[in-house]
Amino acid sequence: MSQPAPALIWFREDLRLADNPAVHAAVKGGRPVVCLFILDEETPGVRPHGGASKWWLDKSLKALEADIGALGGRLTIRRGAAETVIGEVVRESGAGAVYWNRRYSEAERVQDTRIKEALKQQGLEAESFNGRLLMEPWALKTGSGGYYRVFTPFWKALRAAYQPAPALPCPKSLKGPTIKSLTVEALGLHPTRPDWSVGLAEHWTPGEAGASARLAHFLDGPIDTYSEHRNLPGDEDSTSGLSPHLRFGEISPAQVWRAVMAGIEAGRITEASAMVFLSEIAWREFSYVLLYHHPDLATDNYNKDFRHMPWRASQKALEAWQTGQTGYPIVDAGMRQLWHTGWMHNRVRMIVASFLTKHLMIHWRDGEDWFWDTLVDADPAANPASWQWTAGSGADAAPYFRVFNPIAQGEKFDADGAYVRRWCPELGALPDKHLHSPWLADKAVLAKAGIELGKTYPKPIVNHDEGRKRALAAYDVLKEKRSAA
Ligand code: FAD
Repeated sequence: MSQPAPALIWFREDLRLADNPAVHAAVKGGRPVVCLFILDEETPGVRPHGGASKWWLDKSLKALEADIGALGGRLTIRRGAAETVIGEVVRESGAGAVYWNRRYSEAERVQDTRIKEALKQQGLEAESFNGRLLMEPWALKTGSGGYYRVFTPFWKALRAAYQPAPALPCPKSLKGPTIKSLTVEALGLHPTRPDWSVGLAEHWTPGEAGASARLAHFLDGPIDTYSEHRNLPGDEDSTSGLSPHLRFGEISPAQVWRAVMAGIEAGRITEASAMVFLSEIAWREFSYVLLYHHPDLATDNYNKDFRHMPWRASQKALEAWQTGQTGYPIVDAGMRQLWHTGWMHNRVRMIVASFLTKHLMIHWRDGEDWFWDTLVDADPAANPASWQWTAGSGADAAPYFRVFNPIAQGEKFDADGAYVRRWCPELGALPDKHLHSPWLADKAVLAKAGIELGKTYPKPIVNHDEGRKRALAAYDVLKEKRSAA
């Protein structure tokens, strides 16, 4: 009896085997399979990964390769424009069907539609699935038929409508024909000259097993204090740390949702705290709604009035912010955590983003770009949506006139200074009272702590009150131009 034609699984942002609809469809009926990953840096409009994401992708692909190998299969790695590569792999493997999980940026959707049509024209089966979101961006509609632009009603509607489908099992075998493949190494994703990734390796275990372990750890205790602790950056377990795993699809939000609900039902998890956590997962969903309806989210103001904002261009100030040398300890600690680990606590992301866009009045796009390059969880929807939210130009955004005070924020959310002391060790000996505003300490206190402002730690690059007033004055300009338009 002749073998059925293989099914091709095109892995993209779904680097897992369990609860993966594309994998499930391919292995149904026991067909041979071809597992494929394409590094496509050629298709116009598809945003290339930043440096930290490339580091993650390198490790995640290696983990996936090992997991597929354990099931008798092989991960075929190619590089190039996906449309061309898919055609080549179909020819070489004799595949009769191609399956993948959907992505949501405009360029990716257009590309996927073209590929699907071409495959169907050749008589192949081509099918795509939702493997990335609880509900796809077009699924939830407001009473008037539009999409949700405000988070709270969106979350209410999602909670009422979402019914997780049963979990899809991990395949038992992934055997199939062997065709030529690059190695993961040949993609050159790991940084060299210099290799700046030591800190990332200390903090993360990319891959499906790492994702499951992180979820299990979080559900085993930290979730119960999430609602109280989630704003405390000094507490390692204050949040789940799942963001890069979700970004690369090593775990699905549906898996997270089911596990949390099962814990609540079994009485192992406190419901009130768990629902606050799931509402954060819903922010991720909301970001995808915004990206879907505003394809230019990463480059264009959601609120068009912001085109009148008189942003400042200062390379010097931007570099001080990027390198954690602003003289504001909570800002500097955040930027250094980001550089060292590829991740930053959410509360501090809001503080540093507010500082850049308001105190320094630098365009949110510059911040979004830096985060895109340095975050291991750099996400095409959550990153621009969150930047615009903080800058005031986004959907359901924090009002521009609400300028975070980096001193008060530090004192409130890092009261014992554990976070600042960890990432700005040169301030370690300062008493708590002065830790978030070292320039207010008198000379003797600074000297005793071994600090010389301007030498061992920078003086503030902008005075808080002046920065705040300047931002508010700029906002007035925007308002005037808007009403004159
Ligand atoms: P938890 O608190 O444990 O939350 C669980 C999950 O919910 C997260 O893993 C994430 O997938 C999702 N989530 C939580 N908060 C948000 C949010 N505000 N918006 C969207 N999703 C959320 N998140 C990213 O995943 N990628 C980004 O590129 C990104 N850029 C950001 C930029 C700025 C300026 C700000 C203020 C926030 C950004 N966030 C981004 C959102 C948030 O900071 C991170 O998702 C969170 O810190 C990740 O840590 P965690 O997994 O421990 O989160």
